[in-house]
Amino acid sequence: MRVGVPKETAAGEHRVALVPETIGRLDEGVEVVVEPSAGVGASFSDDAYRGAGATIGNPWDADVVVKVAAPTPDEAARLHSGQALIAFLRPLTDPGGVEQLADNGVHAFALESIPRITRAQPMDALSSQATVAGYKAALLAADRLPRFLPMLMTAAGTIPPAKVLVLGAGVAGLQAVATARRLGAVVFAFDVRPAVREQVESLGASFLDLGVEGEETAAGYARELTAEQQAAQQTELQARIPEFDAVITTAAIPGRPAPKLVTADAVHAMRAGSVIVDLAADSGGNCELTQPGREIVESGVTIVGATNLASTMATHASQLLARNIAALLGLLVHDGELVLDWDDEIVAGACVTRRAVAA
Ligand code: NAD
Repeated sequence: MRVGVPKETAAGEHRVALVPETIGRLDEGVEVVVEPSAGVGASFSDDAYRGAGATIGNPWDADVVVKVAAPTPDEAARLHSGQALIAFLRPLTDPGGVEQLADNGVHAFALESIPRITRAQPMDALSSQATVAGYKAALLAADRLPRFLPMLMTAAGTIPPAKVLVLGAGVAGLQAVATARRLGAVVFAFDVRPAVREQVESLGASFLDLGVEGEETAAGYARELTAEQQAAQQTELQARIPEFDAVITTAAIPGRPAPKLVTADAVHAMRAGSVIVDLAADSGGNCELTQPGREIVESGVTIVGATNLASTMATHASQLLARNIAALLGLLVHDGELVLDWDDEIVAGACVTRRAVAA
């Protein structure tokens, strides 16, 4: 039973789906084939993979192919019926890609679709990568600000701490809160899910009360706000945002465009030198002026349209992702065989295409 690890080809993608450390954690009957230089972007050499027992070669013929990004159409064409694939397949936003895998008869498992139940926590790649992105977002905000984050008492006088607002306090947002707190900022956060208030406060930050409360789905995600609620949130935020030096936005609704929280008017009301780091840039941005993948300055406010921040910390992002994937493989592989137990909630939930078996 072979697991193949291709080199990622998407622009700016430096992560790799398995790292040398995780190879030893796989089922004993598993052989790992790694494409030449697949780990180089994440600082793992071919020799390190060889040292961990992998071979360097063509990963596409393996029984299970593990990737970070969804395969391109050319890569998907290299997959064949009966093979399994694990990757971030964007099942809610890339139906064409998923269809191609289905046409090829591939058993495709989307990391995004793993149910977020307690037993699946070690496999929760959305959380592990959001943790990296949230941490890095706070560092970017600190780096772009022309001010200190902590309060400083110096011979030249006292510098007050910076004020940071985090919008959306899921996994990424809470990590941004924790990181900005560690750097000494005064941190506020807002989320439409009421349960978040306690989590924000337990990190030493304050919950910003905007008078807007949304609902939580059974899966723990936020429901999209109504148009009236969204307008109320924008108005309230516009009044509060000028107090802050940095705003880190992470608000998302799975499969939907990012909610617009920060209007152009709100940006214009901020002080020159303020910073917005928009982690939702990939799905359109939480700020009206965000340009995905670009950093712009609008009336003195720096707006970072952050895309794929996890890839900018490719070593640890890959290490965490590899552990998630190894945990999922632990569920799919038994005694060197791919055994797909469709009665298992995680196996069935993560699977987005499945080879049809003739009756
Ligand atoms: P996400 O990336 O889908 O969204 C980020 C945050 O944006 C969420 O907290 C959401 O409530 C918030 N949001 C949406 N619309 C908003 C708006 N208009 N204004 C402000 N905030 C808005 O979420 P996520 O980080 O993937 O986590 C979602 C939930 O899943 C959380 O409750 C998290 O604790 C839970 N979770 C559970 C497990 C588990 O194993 N049980 C694991 C990971 C996450």
